Amino acid sequence: MQFCGNPLDTRSKYAAIAQRRCQREQGHTGPCGEFPYLRDLESSHPAVAAKIKRDSTMTTGASWSSKDAGPNRILRWVMLLSDDELLAYGIDMMKLKPQVVAKLRDKAATYDECMAVARQLTWATYQMPNAPTPSSDVRVYLEECCGPLTLGKACCSVCRLPLSFDLFAEARRGKAAIETSHMDPRKHDPANVAFAHRECNIAQGPMTLNQFYDWIQGILERAERIGGRS
Ligand SMILES: [Zn+2]
Ligand SMILES: [Zn+2]
Repeated sequence: MQFCGNPLDTRSKYAAIAQRRCQREQGHTGPCGEFPYLRDLESSHPAVAAKIKRDSTMTTGASWSSKDAGPNRILRWVMLLSDDELLAYGIDMMKLKPQVVAKLRDKAATYDECMAVARQLTWATYQMPNAPTPSSDVRVYLEECCGPLTLGKACCSVCRLPLSFDLFAEARRGKAAIETSHMDPRKHDPANVAFAHRECNIAQGPMTLNQFYDWIQGILERAERIGGRS
């Protein structure tokens, strides 16, 4: 699909790093917009729409807030800047622990990659069992960008069990039951992101999905051979 691409006004202090652009189809009527395909979810399930925007564009960062834990959440494309450039924005990477820096740098992605991921996650959302039905223009947009929508067929990218839309509403101690997962945690692009159960995403950890499966297979084989499985 060819996008309109008109520049959008933003008050973000990071506006100079990447120009936000209209993601509607070229030659559209009506106002420009960055997430036109989230319109339905924004009115029916605003928390789900907000999660898709947040997970596609922001680093997860640390779940706590402290000086050496680093910025809590930051736009992924900001993490493409050099340490010197980030200093000008008041982010001192040298003051952060190396593990935190590595984690933040792993989450870096371009603005266009983040926009493509947001479309992909919305497309995946509509394929979950119990998901609402998209209006026809949203459906056409998502199908043109991401492929045919098969309603009710989505499963967890890690354990492959069905992933119900209802899980979005379930949260324990503020932690959502559905998380955005990456087949390779170091790549934030549409071919590499999907939704997973929170437990499954945590189990995969920093491994790629294939490394995780190999690890589990090794454990199961040893448990069969050496014993310990009851
Ligand atoms: Zn536009
Ligand atoms: Zn799962």
